[in-house]
Amino acid sequence: MKPEKTTKKLKLKSINSVMLAYFCIFSVLLLVLVYMVFYAIVTTTLSRHMRNRVVGVGTEAVEMLKRRPESKVLEQVFLHYREEEGIAVYMLSMDGQILVPFGIDININKSRVDEILRRTSSLTLDDDTTFRTEGYVNYCACVNFNDESCILFVSCSLGIISNAISSMQIYLLLVSVIALLLAFLISYTISQKLTQGLKNLSSTAVQFAHGDYNVKFYPADYKEVAQLSDTLNFVRDEVKKSHDFQREILANVTHDLKTPLTMIKAYASMVQEISGDNPEKRNQHLQVIIDEADRLTGLVNDVLSVSKVNSNLDEIHPKVFNLTEFLYGIINKFGYLQESGYSLMVDIDPDRYTRADEEKIGQVIYNLLGNAVNYTGEDKTVFISLKTSMDGNRIRLTVRDTGKGISKEELPNIWDRYYRSEQNHVRPVKGTGLGLNIVKVILQNHSFDFGVDSEKDNGSTFWVDFPSVPSDFEE
Ligand code: ADP
Repeated sequence: MKPEKTTKKLKLKSINSVMLAYFCIFSVLLLVLVYMVFYAIVTTTLSRHMRNRVVGVGTEAVEMLKRRPESKVLEQVFLHYREEEGIAVYMLSMDGQILVPFGIDININKSRVDEILRRTSSLTLDDDTTFRTEGYVNYCACVNFNDESCILFVSCSLGIISNAISSMQIYLLLVSVIALLLAFLISYTISQKLTQGLKNLSSTAVQFAHGDYNVKFYPADYKEVAQLSDTLNFVRDEVKKSHDFQREILANVTHDLKTPLTMIKAYASMVQEISGDNPEKRNQHLQVIIDEADRLTGLVNDVLSVSKVNSNLDEIHPKVFNLTEFLYGIINKFGYLQESGYSLMVDIDPDRYTRADEEKIGQVIYNLLGNAVNYTGEDKTVFISLKTSMDGNRIRLTVRDTGKGISKEELPNIWDRYYRSEQNHVRPVKGTGLGLNIVKVILQNHSFDFGVDSEKDNGSTFWVDFPSVPSDFEE
C-alpha cells in the first residue's frame, strides 16, 4: 500500500523552491532599497558639500582680493584651487572679459558668460549670489578690482556626483550577484536541513502505516519539527494501544465464547443420548442450553457494539442479588461433569446477599470453577464453599482443587494476561491464559479482595471476599 500523492493532485510547491524564491525576492528588495538610499544620500550630501565648498572658496578669494589685490598673487591662488580641488575661479569684467587668470586655456563658453552676466546684473558692490546651472554649481560676487567693479566667479562641475553614482552602480551590481548567490546557498542549506527532518518523519510514518508499531519518530533540529515528531510518537503509542486493546478484546471474547459452546455441545449430546426420553431431565438440560445460548447472545451483542466491548471490563453495574442462589445456578450448569466422573463438593451458607455486577461476577465464578475442573487431580474433585466471616461483613467464596498446584515462583504471574504455566497438569488443558486476568480485572474494578493459596503438588485454593449485604439493602 502506497500513500496517496496529494502533492501531485494539488500541485504543491517544494519548501526548497519557495524558500529560494522568498530569499531572492528579499535580496532584490533589499538591494533596491540600499540603492535608493545611497542615491539620495550621494546626490543630496555631495551637492550640498560642493555648494558649501564653492561658497567657501568664493569668500576666501574675496578676502584675498582685499588683502593682496595684485593680479599675479590672485592668479596663483586661483590656479591653486583649480589644480587641487577642481574648482575654477575667474575675475570677469562687467562686459564678460576674463581678467584673471590670463594666458590660460580657459574652459568657459559664451553662453555661460552670458548666464553669469544676467545673474549678476542686479548685484551691487560686495553683494554675492549662488546658483546652479546645468552640471555646475556657481558662486558670483561683485568686487572692486583695479578700481573697477568686476565679478568674481567660482564654479565647480557636478560631474563628480555622476561619477560616484556610476561607480556605486558597479559595486552594487557586484554586491547583487554576491547577495543572490548567498541567498541561494543559505536558502538551499536551510531548506535541506528543514526538509531532511520532515523526509525522515515521512519515511518513518510510511513504515508505521505498514504496521510497524515500534518505529520511533526522531526529532530534527527545529522546534516545530520536534513538536511534530512528538505528536507522531504520541499518535503511534495511541494507535498501538488501541491495536493491542482490540487484539486483547478479541482474545477475551473468544475465550468467553469457549465455555458456553462447550456446555451447549455437552448438554445437546446428553439430550441426544441420555435424557431424550425423560421429559424432566430433558427440560433441565434444554434449559441449560437456552441459558448458555443467552450468554452467547450477550457476548455477540458486546462484540457488535465496539464501544461496549472497549469498556466491557471497566463498566460495573452493581445490584444486590442472592449470591447463594446465583452460585448454585452456576454449579448446576457444571452438573453435566458428573457423567464424566467429576464431583463438585459444596459447603454453601444459605441466602447470602451481596452487591456487585451479577453478570461479571458470573464470569469470575465460571472462570474459577472452569480452572479448578481443568486442573484438579486424579480424584476429579472440586470443593466449593461460600462462608460468612465472623464479623458478618464478608462472604468468602473458595474454589479448591486437588491438582498439581502452583509453584511459589509462578504464583505472582498467573494473573497476568496471556500467562500460561509451562508445568504439566494432570490433564492437558488448552487454555488462552486470559481467564484469571479477566477475574483479576473484574474483582479489582469491584475493589473486592481475592487471592490464591497454593503449593506445588498440593492443590490450589482460589478465594474471593464479597461484601455481605442484607436482602433488603437500599441501592
Ligand atoms: P488458562 O487456564 O486459559 O491457561 P488462566 O488465566 O485461567 O488461563 O490461568 C493461567 C495459568 O494459571 C494456567 O495456565 C495455569 O497454569 C495456572 N492455573 C490457573 N488455575 C489453576 C489451578 N486451579 N491449578 C493449577 N494451576 C492453575
